[in-house]
Amino acid sequence: MNKYTNISIEPVGMLYDIPIRPCMKSGFCCTKSPCAYGTYDHEKKQCIHLGEPNDIGQRDCLHINWILENVPEEFRNFNPAFGAGCCMPMFNEARNTIINTIKEKNIT
Ligand code: SF4
Ligand code: SF4
Repeated sequence: MNKYTNISIEPVGMLYDIPIRPCMKSGFCCTKSPCAYGTYDHEKKQCIHLGEPNDIGQRDCLHINWILENVPEEFRNFNPAFGAGCCMPMFNEARNTIINTIKEKNIT
């Protein structure tokens, strides 16, 4: 089994002829505001369910199993929209760093 997930930097689709950039699991969006099923910790400035970064900076949603088991697909596909692409690709240094690390270490 691969040690990492979300390491493909290929677009996950197109929207109005613009490539949809993939989620690289930077956790950046979860530090800005929680999804519909998260809870924001104002002291830590992140969702309480956001995991610690792994060795290449990727962070898991530790609430994903609850969301998958309890939230109907039509809602969770819209929010938090796991797998639908990155919602904050601009000026996202955490995401850029992960991409650069994947390229530099040639992680496949
Ligand atoms: S519940 Fe998961 S996806 Fe939602 S904000 Fe928290 S860490 Fe992010
Ligand atoms: S900011 Fe983008 S790359 Fe980072 S966790 Fe959110 S959707 Fe994924």
